[in-house]
Amino acid sequence: MSQLPACPKCQSEYTYEDGDNYICPECAHEWPKVAAAESADEARVIKDANGNVLTDDDTVTVIKDLKVKGSSLVVKVGTKVKNIRLVDGDHDIDCRIDGIGAMKLKSEFVKKA
Ligand SMILES: [Zn+2]
Repeated sequence: MSQLPACPKCQSEYTYEDGDNYICPECAHEWPKVAAAESADEARVIKDANGNVLTDDDTVTVIKDLKVKGSSLVVKVGTKVKNIRLVDGDHDIDCRIDGIGAMKLKSEFVKKA
């Protein structure tokens, strides 16, 4: 017999199977088996302005002028950014831009080159 997952709502271990669903007897939460399996190994996906999935070391193009915080520098629209690194947070791209240095960008303001 396979191990049943704990309830995602109340963490109860007394879940049982019913057809394609798991059911928790403690809080009455029901959830589909398939979704539970998928979410287990779900990775964070970061997409560009066009909805293309970005990965580490991609080259992207900036799609709008971006002011660099704490300076008078501006990353111009069309600037190519090489070897991006995806990170967690509000600004989800870590990179180095010629003439500016290391900075963070938002994925919504770039597109895959
Ligand atoms: Zn529960």
